[in-house]
Amino acid sequence: MARASRGRYQLVLADWVLPGEVDGLALCRRVREMRDERPHVIVLTVRDRPEEIEQVLQAGADDYLPKPLLPRLVKTRIQVAEWQLAERLARVEAEAARARLASVVEFSDDAIVTMTLDGTITDWNCAAEALFGHSAEEAVGQHVSMLDGDPVEEILDCVRRGMPVRHMEAVRHRKDGEIIEVSVTFSPIRDRAGKLTGVSSILRDISEAKRHERELRAAWKAAARANQAKTAFLSSMSHEVRTPLNAIVGFSDLLLAERDSMDPATMHGTIENVSVAASDLLKLADEMLDLARIEAGRLALHPEEFLVADVIRNAISIVSHQALRKEVRLVGPIALEGDMVADPARVRQILFNLLTNAIKFSPVGGEVRIDVERASDAIVLAVGDLDPGIPAEDIERIFQPFEQVNVGGRAREGTGLGLAIVRELVHAHGGRIHVSSALGQGSRFVVTLPQGGRGETRRSTGP
Ligand code: ADP
Repeated sequence: MARASRGRYQLVLADWVLPGEVDGLALCRRVREMRDERPHVIVLTVRDRPEEIEQVLQAGADDYLPKPLLPRLVKTRIQVAEWQLAERLARVEAEAARARLASVVEFSDDAIVTMTLDGTITDWNCAAEALFGHSAEEAVGQHVSMLDGDPVEEILDCVRRGMPVRHMEAVRHRKDGEIIEVSVTFSPIRDRAGKLTGVSSILRDISEAKRHERELRAAWKAAARANQAKTAFLSSMSHEVRTPLNAIVGFSDLLLAERDSMDPATMHGTIENVSVAASDLLKLADEMLDLARIEAGRLALHPEEFLVADVIRNAISIVSHQALRKEVRLVGPIALEGDMVADPARVRQILFNLLTNAIKFSPVGGEVRIDVERASDAIVLAVGDLDPGIPAEDIERIFQPFEQVNVGGRAREGTGLGLAIVRELVHAHGGRIHVSSALGQGSRFVVTLPQGGRGETRRSTGP
């Protein structure tokens, strides 16, 4: 009995009546508790009334053999027992395999959803619950279109025709409304006979990977554009440097060659040309230095109290030559009274850069308008022109170092550094810069700087 119930045997033949306290039926009951591990039990008995046989089978015996035993009958019953045992073993193994598979599906990291051929959800594993936020109770029985995003019917149609749909990327909605990106594979489910019975889909959350991919692509684009801008900058730099250098070399050679014969007026004009070219070079070097300082975080401001109108007049007087040469009119009321605390040289530089651009990009005979006003505790400076304007998609770009926008295919002089420096200077003062522009209607750059100090009203001393 003990050995039989320890699962040592596959087949046990036991008499109904046994010596001791335990009879054959008690043994059957004990063996029955062993479930899948139990041996096949045949009870041997002289009792052959139907109710007695029923009693034997109910106790858990697999079979019985009437006594006296007939050898041929015993042989046949043992053969039957072997078949039944083999079948039971196969069934147990199949069930174990099914249970293993079910556990793999249930605890897979990928969401696994099965559905009928018309798209009614039949299985919904743990990962599907986590991915979509719907519990299995909520999802099973619903149509798969509850997850929306795809042409569900087309996909089901494909799978119904026996064709899997692999690694399709799609967008899905979670229960909480969040949008996620997933990679989905749809496969047909077939029964043993090969008949199509349903569809399984495996979904993987690829939102993070997609975000990385987009960031990488954007970074790559930005790097490629920065590279292009740098190449353009180097070629324009060499042009910018060569032009004044050529003038300096040319005019100084002329002075050397004709110093004895040259009349004073021509000599004066020639020296002036050398001086202008040298100033242009100096300006370029200053811009480069400024940008290098800004990029290294070493831009130092020297704030002091000054009259706003003085600095504006000063900036205007520096660009007035340039405006005159292009017959560009400078207009605007600049009679703002009062002072502010900031770095006057940098405020002048901001205005100078904006005015230079406005004049440079205006057509001959154009107009540049300067406005200045006090708004609560800020000074608002605006420089506007009437043409050519900047395409909306390029507005952010023009503040990047080395970036130039080629409106109407016209090549422009300049390095693409001016506005990058302006923006940094404005930010360094705790201010902000805004540009509104429309093609063919001009641009208006508005700089708002905190007035600093007490913002007292004082009369301008300038002319
Ligand atoms: P630069 O003037 O040396 O090219 P900036 O940084 O000052 O460099 O300007 C960058 C670009 O912004 C210019 O090349 C031009 O395309 C555009 N831009 C700036 N100001 C104006 C303006 N007032 N009107 C039209 N385009 C402008």
